[in-house]
Amino acid sequence: MNTDNFIPFECPVCLTLMRDARDVFSFFSSNCCLDCKREYLIPNGMEKADVEKIKKSDKKALRKKRNIMPSYILR
Ligand SMILES: [Zn+2]
Repeated sequence: MNTDNFIPFECPVCLTLMRDARDVFSFFSSNCCLDCKREYLIPNGMEKADVEKIKKSDKKALRKKRNIMPSYILR
């Protein structure tokens, strides 16, 4: 399977649906949505999200944050 241009419907880190092109671009460059990039990758000095390496508790915290923002749709 060619995964080079694969865009999931949701961010693999916070499991929130990608909202717009900015999230898609962020996924291309960093493997996660723009908010995860801003809130997790950049503060941790990471360039790309490695879902396997991100702690469960961190992912949970990011997801929780999305949950309280009304603009997000969670599954
Ligand atoms: Zn995310």
